Amino acid sequence: MSSKSGKQVVIFGGGLAGVQLARDLAQDMKVVLVDPNDYVEVPMAAPRSLVDPAFADDALIPYSLALPEVTHVRGRLIEMGANAGEVLVSDGQRISVRGDVHVLCTGSLYANALMRSSGATLEERKRLYRQYSSVIQAANRVLIVGGGPIGVEVAGELSESHPGKSIILLESGRRLLPGTSLMAAQHAASVLASRGVSILFGERLQAATTAPDDIFAGPGIATTSIGRKIGYDLLVWCTGGRPNTAYMKPLLYAALNEQGRVRVNPDLRVVGHPALFALGDITDLDENKMAWHIDGQVRCAADNIRRIIQGGRAALALSTYKPQTGNPKMAVTLGSQQGVLHLPFLGVIRSPWFTRKAKAEHMLVPRYRRLMNVG
Ligand SMILES: Cc1cc2nc3c(=O)[nH]c(=O)nc-3n(C[C@H](O)[C@H](O)[C@H](O)COP(=O)(O)OP(=O)(O)OC[C@H]3O[C@@H](n4cnc5c(N)ncnc54)[C@H](O)[C@@H]3O)c2cc1C
Repeated sequence: MSSKSGKQVVIFGGGLAGVQLARDLAQDMKVVLVDPNDYVEVPMAAPRSLVDPAFADDALIPYSLALPEVTHVRGRLIEMGANAGEVLVSDGQRISVRGDVHVLCTGSLYANALMRSSGATLEERKRLYRQYSSVIQAANRVLIVGGGPIGVEVAGELSESHPGKSIILLESGRRLLPGTSLMAAQHAASVLASRGVSILFGERLQAATTAPDDIFAGPGIATTSIGRKIGYDLLVWCTGGRPNTAYMKPLLYAALNEQGRVRVNPDLRVVGHPALFALGDITDLDENKMAWHIDGQVRCAADNIRRIIQGGRAALALSTYKPQTGNPKMAVTLGSQQGVLHLPFLGVIRSPWFTRKAKAEHMLVPRYRRLMNVG
């Protein structure tokens, strides 16, 4: 397909799904990317960057480098309609952004900006990591809330680089890492316990004296669901993400399920909207919300968008995406030297050498830099 077709695709959200799709489509059509940040971050690096801010230097990639052929609108989608998106741009203006095809890739919302910032420049993000690592250094008692992959990785980083601190990991369920096998979760728990991390299962954080969105809030006291009081110098929220889809509510509410996820057909088009796609964490696809699955979704959506733009018979035979339902594949690091993997066919891998090479020493930053062609 030639770029002279004059067709335009608008992608809302330039995280892992949006950037990979934009790079692919920009080869032969005009692509506009709307995102409130001016960079893409390799999210796997975030737990390491908290304790080693220099690690973020390679994990943060400006859109100008990753997407030289794409027009970036620095703004936030606030209302999606059937034919255009209303965007609040960084200078405060409200504009309507319209394409021949629209794609929603706005990912997950977390408790605060620590794991994913929204509306930052690359320099602001680097500054946040530098400031936060000083806060970590000064804290003696750290309470981490959430025993999913992010909470476990943060506990792994903190216990490795600050062995003298008192670290408590609070998990409301009966085990860590609910998205993978019990054996992998038990290994992670035993490594953390061997480093002195106290893991409290079956207790939910009920109240805390510091607000979740104030990541630099000072010491406080947390109360758990069984009434236990925990004093902390630093409270790190690592609870699971919620779908970032508030912009659907005014006009496209019917396309959301009860959890606020976007309902998609197997061809990744939003149910009831023939020129609107959704990819990544926001979809109702029955699979763990993880980066593993995004490559397959991007291939499927890119193919289908080209077919729709070509029109005619091509648009009648769209590719379908098969969700990875129940796939326990996961790679969880426990600091820079070890971790645990659950891989298809191989099962649970605990070898420090293997887990280090697979993820712990680089946190997949080189992989994503290669994918974005930034070396
Ligand atoms: C700390 C951390 C570690 C992780 N580690 C792993 C791992 O090791 N392995 C793994 O498989 N997965 C991991 N994940 C999950 C993985 O990062 C996500 O599944 C993946 O990034 C989802 O891709 P996405 O494109 O849907 O969303 P994201 O990559 O989150 O991107 C969403 C983008 O949308 C933008 N956006 C948000 N709202 C709007 C709006 N209203 N308008 C416009 N743009 C908007 C955001 O700024 C962001 O750039 C991790 C996630 C985090 C947070």
